[in-house]
Amino acid sequence: TLVKNASAARYQAKERGKNGYHHYTSSMNIASYKLFMIERDLRSGIKDKELYLHYQPRVDAKTGKMISAEALIRWEHPIWGLISPGEFIPVAEQSDLILHIGEFVIDKACQTLSDWKRKGLPIVPISINISAKRFLKTDWINKLQITLDDYQLDPSFLEIEITETALIMHTEAVNTSLKLLKDIGIRVALDDFGTGYSSLTYLKQFPVDTLKIDRSFIKNLSESAQDQLITKSIITLAHGLNMRVVAEGVEEVDQLTFLQELNCDEIQGYLFSKPVSGREFEVLLQKQVLK
Ligand code: C2E
Ligand code: CA
Ligand code: CA
Ligand code: CA
Repeated sequence: TLVKNASAARYQAKERGKNGYHHYTSSMNIASYKLFMIERDLRSGIKDKELYLHYQPRVDAKTGKMISAEALIRWEHPIWGLISPGEFIPVAEQSDLILHIGEFVIDKACQTLSDWKRKGLPIVPISINISAKRFLKTDWINKLQITLDDYQLDPSFLEIEITETALIMHTEAVNTSLKLLKDIGIRVALDDFGTGYSSLTYLKQFPVDTLKIDRSFIKNLSESAQDQLITKSIITLAHGLNMRVVAEGVEEVDQLTFLQELNCDEIQGYLFSKPVSGREFEVLLQKQVLK
């Protein structure tokens, strides 16, 4: 029985170990399987036109007039339904998929602008989000110019939003890209400003036209003296460097009032409008004419 017990104990230990290990790998597998599925489905989703753009107005802080629109990508998965970009963009960033998405967004935004023009709508510029990865090379800018020409669009109707991370990761390449964009006449906005680790010297170094103050500073703006100070400083800094400032995620009138007092140039957020479909955005454009 001693031998039997020992082997039983060994067996139990092995099972426990196996279980522990098994448990660990299965949760790992679910995570990696999810990544694998998102990547696989995203690849076919781009082909099958499951991706489309929504547009969120950016408005003049003083007059409330719509100045431009940010294009935000949406994915309608045939089984899972609407998947947020917060979920699939980070996955796409891990492969060349993000470059396909970028191409889709550029083309779609230009196509939309050209549609609006054809319909006689008073078009506003569209800003698009471009991944840091895109900035590793500069060949896409030439392609961008060709797309603009194909749709007979003025480059000033496109703005590129990049995050601070892009600046830090690929300083040299980014600088070259930004200069080329400037040469063409495409404006550039620095997105999520204040959340990255970029030092202020970057602002001097890179030819950026607009700063977008991240939502995290705006969220508690009405209550937090700290956030008020930070927001005020960012606006002063940006204006000192001849940049425009956009406040992101403005949801309350109190936030708007505060931002107006600080001379913030533009407002973006649910207070004015959520991101809406292309169709709904056309209605917003039409309303502008009537104003
Ligand atoms: P982002 O560029 O910072 O975009 C702003 C996000 O804030 C959007 O989320 C927008 O819907 C949301 N938002 C706007 N106003 C408010 C507000 O008042 N309150 C709240 N709570 N949220 C507000 P969304 O559309 O889910 O996009 C999330 C992120 O995904 C974007 O953050 C951007 O980093 C990325 N993304 C979206 N579209 C694209 C794209 O076409 N290409 C790339 N590379 N990234 C994209
Ligand atoms: Ca953005
Ligand atoms: Ca942002
Ligand atoms: Ca953000």
